[in-house]
Amino acid sequence: MGALIIISSTKNIYSMSDLLSQKASLLLITSVILILVIAFFYSGMLIKPLLSLKKAIGHLTEGYLDEEVSVESFTEIKQISDSLNQMLLRIKNLESSRQEFVSNVSHELKTPLTSVKVLADSLLMQENVPTELYREFLVDIADEIERENKIINDLLSLVKLDKTASDMNISSVKINDLLEQVLKRLRPIAKKRNIELVFESFRPVVAEVDEVKLSLAISNLIENAIKYNVEDGWVRVSLNADHKYFYVKVSDSGIGIPEESQDFIFERFYRVDKARSRGTGGTGLGLSIAKNAIHMHKGAIKVYSKENEGTTFTVRIPINYIV
Ligand code: ADP
Repeated sequence: MGALIIISSTKNIYSMSDLLSQKASLLLITSVILILVIAFFYSGMLIKPLLSLKKAIGHLTEGYLDEEVSVESFTEIKQISDSLNQMLLRIKNLESSRQEFVSNVSHELKTPLTSVKVLADSLLMQENVPTELYREFLVDIADEIERENKIINDLLSLVKLDKTASDMNISSVKINDLLEQVLKRLRPIAKKRNIELVFESFRPVVAEVDEVKLSLAISNLIENAIKYNVEDGWVRVSLNADHKYFYVKVSDSGIGIPEESQDFIFERFYRVDKARSRGTGGTGLGLSIAKNAIHMHKGAIKVYSKENEGTTFTVRIPINYIV
């Protein structure tokens, strides 16, 4: 039995522990600084594209629609910037069609007025004008005023149709009766050019529609089928339905629409042959009115046409009105 006494200094251990705690503090401070620096740069990186996006939106709001939003960044921001560009494209298209519409309206409204002015001036410039000439010129002036009136009325119909669906006056309507009524009104015009106007109904149809707007649309289609027809030609109107939709078809034996024009005929003021349309009292607004009225019923309209053979417009409208 015995005892071993070892004596050693703890100074080394203490100094080692001090050194370690110093290093730990240094490491802590360095890591905190490093984390702060990384966080600063990273948040800057995250916020930068958002700031560019905000700046780009600010520019758009000020009206600089020609500038594209281009923010190269991570996927989500890139998607927002792409969606913004798509929206921008739509706004630009709307803006240019609005400008075109306004300039077309001004031009169309000015044309009859210019003719009236020329007719009146030429009468005023001559002395001792015979009464017959006065009469002749006044008839022309009255025609031009009538034309101006028609353009204004068509424009008003179009503006009314541009309003929201809440303006729809929906009721259950016997479509057969509605078509018969429209045809009855147009029969005298067809008779003048000896055009046969036939109505074929495959079944009685009752549908939820706005009677006035639908009559306007169909009436414009049949009027065109008569206007752009040949002497002794024919116009056939047919009505059919299935469980979901009813279909109105207006076919004619007329002059047809050239293929390259078919994409444009529903545009406001578009006319294949301006002189012919003017001669028949056309304003270039009839098909836009028809298309708008049909779209307000959530329906569709299509055209099939061959030049010098004839044209068929088909209209499809849901039997039950879709809100
Ligand atoms: P418009 O008042 O000139 O008739 P619309 O908008 O009704 O205007 O029609 C646009 C153009 O489409 C017409 O000018 C005409 O050239 C053409 N069009 C429309 N319907 C027919 C048709 N049934 N046959 C031939 N051309 C047509």
